Amino acid sequence: MRKIAIYGKGCIGKSSITQNTVAALAEMGRKVMLVGCDSKADSTRLLLGRLHPKILLNTLREESEDLHLEDFRKEGWGKTFCVESGGPEPGVGCTGRSVITSIGLLEQLGAYDAKLQLDYAFYDGLSSVVCSGFVMPMREKKAQEVYIVTSGDSLSLYTINNICRGIQKYAFLGGVRLGGLIYNSPNFDQEDDLVQAFAEQLGTQIIYSIPRDNIVQQAEFHNQTVIAYAPNCEQAQHYRHLAKAIDQNTNFVVPKPLSNQQLETLWMKWGVLSFEC
Ligand code: ADP
Ligand code: MG
Repeated sequence: MRKIAIYGKGCIGKSSITQNTVAALAEMGRKVMLVGCDSKADSTRLLLGRLHPKILLNTLREESEDLHLEDFRKEGWGKTFCVESGGPEPGVGCTGRSVITSIGLLEQLGAYDAKLQLDYAFYDGLSSVVCSGFVMPMREKKAQEVYIVTSGDSLSLYTINNICRGIQKYAFLGGVRLGGLIYNSPNFDQEDDLVQAFAEQLGTQIIYSIPRDNIVQQAEFHNQTVIAYAPNCEQAQHYRHLAKAIDQNTNFVVPKPLSNQQLETLWMKWGVLSFEC
């Protein structure tokens, strides 16, 4: 089973990309479990067609005995398994630690049993750039493969660099590797070149570029992935291509993060070029 964590700054498109990718993998016949790791608990909404009815950490806080896997592992579109970990209570605890607690509980309850023949476990919603808790799944060997959703703005690049520092730190202890950047919805000229140049400096690849399309929001307002809502549209094809690229990926690296100064220089250089063109 491949255990994949999807990182990126808030609102960059992690949940929509993850759910569409999971749906596309399910179409390809893969068995997939998606674990939402965001306190918003909206990582599985498009696969379930509604918000998840039972959030793992809330259940754990309210009923500490008699926990059953089927209470918080619900079947979603394409026979996917959907779990929402939830987050710590505001002001108490750490998101990273909460995710580890949730995964530990899922393990105890048999969610990863070999007899299920899962091909993938995806973790979505690990967005924090201010708290170092985001590295916990890497440190505790819960995530082996990381993809970072990005565009070319400065916070996105800073987030990637920070996550790459985490991967570098735990690569040899936990075995985690970066599988690539998922480039979502470009906004400005030359942004592709900037993200490509950054990927090269880190020693990784852009595994796929997803264009911006309003069909993503339309599908979302119907609580569906694009794959389910408009299976024949071009955007659905893009998610299928991304799923295939992940399924066939062999390019896993320990990235080489930049210093803050190198990052600033790269960003300014491409920004200036962009406005001169
Ligand atoms: P995150 O999980 O990173 O916080 P979401 O997946 O919730 O972000 O996406 C934030 C918003 O951006 C959503 O309303 C989503 O529909 C929209 N969005 C994401 N990717 C695209 C895209 N390629 N085209 C159009 N809208 C998108
Ligand atoms: Mg999200």
